[in-house]
Amino acid sequence: MIDPFGRSVTYLRVSVTDRCDLRCVYCMAEDMTFLPKADILSLEELERLCNAFIRLGVRKLRLTGGEPLVRRNIMSLIRNLGAQIGKGGLEELTLTTNGTQLAKYADELFAAGVRRINVSLDTLDPAKFKSITRWGDIAKVMDGLMAAKAAGLKVKLNTVALKGVNEDEYDRLLEFCGEHGFDLTLIETMPLGDIDGDRTDQYLPLSQVRAQLEQRWTLRESSHRTGGPARYVEVAETGQRLGFITPMTHNFCESCNRVRVTCTGTLYMCLGQEDAADLRAPLRASESDELITQAVLDAIARKPKGHDFVIDRTLNKPAVARHMSVTGG
Ligand code: SAM
Ligand code: SF4
Repeated sequence: MIDPFGRSVTYLRVSVTDRCDLRCVYCMAEDMTFLPKADILSLEELERLCNAFIRLGVRKLRLTGGEPLVRRNIMSLIRNLGAQIGKGGLEELTLTTNGTQLAKYADELFAAGVRRINVSLDTLDPAKFKSITRWGDIAKVMDGLMAAKAAGLKVKLNTVALKGVNEDEYDRLLEFCGEHGFDLTLIETMPLGDIDGDRTDQYLPLSQVRAQLEQRWTLRESSHRTGGPARYVEVAETGQRLGFITPMTHNFCESCNRVRVTCTGTLYMCLGQEDAADLRAPLRASESDELITQAVLDAIARKPKGHDFVIDRTLNKPAVARHMSVTGG
């Protein structure tokens, strides 16, 4: 699949549910209305969809959400997809999780062929964790992280940089990652979906964070790429990597190789644009995969050049109305 700008689409992110056991303040409103079950693709339909993408050239699949590990029976999908790794199509299956269920699933994930996971964690402070997630218990995430490490999964922590909230914690997070052999990626907040607060209050440019970190740590440029939008440095003192995802201060679209599917089978060609294609109708219309293949190819032919995020101070409206938990991170 080659888009109109010559970029090869090899990376699919699949949101397997819009539900979550947490309510992170920058991601969801407290009182979210979730989708009716009938709108959501079954696990079998999700598998068929992923297989169609793999046949079209997808090499890397990331399951996300909502929280992927709260979907009932999710391990059956993960096992079936994992069984395809190394058979000439799929090369990597991974997931982004909040970590609350990892203690239960880490071993099974490894057995299914998952080798790397991203765990979202914005703070190491239990009280702050509770306030960011509205009710989460950090002890569960810590147990999950240790289970993942023990299972042999390579862990990367994803931390959203939140002004006045976790600004003082990046040193401690780098130390923590150094102790456990985790990488860390810092992410700028993106204006996605209505939340209960004011985003201009939360936005912290990572250029500023990096300059501060450089006063304490030796950050060496790294050519490492994971197929995602992060730019990496190596932290000389810990030997671990530190990534920066800067959708707001730096345009990361030129090398975009990915598209996203929601749990209702809507394909978004860009995280920051509204244009989408419905894949559920072609999926349900026929048992053969011809319709779905054509729908995907038609959509890729419309993949836009890039996004146009701005956090608008005057209107204070999200740039894109749908929440990150719908499109998947
Ligand atoms: N529940 C899983 C988790 O938290 O890792 C997977 C889905 S979550 C939507 C994926 C990632 O998106 C998380 O790392 C989260 O911090 C990030 N995220 C959510 N809303 C965001 C926003 N408005 N700006 C930047 N990152 C956001
Ligand atoms: Fe849930 Fe992840 Fe969104 Fe937090 S960021 S509310 S854990 S989907």
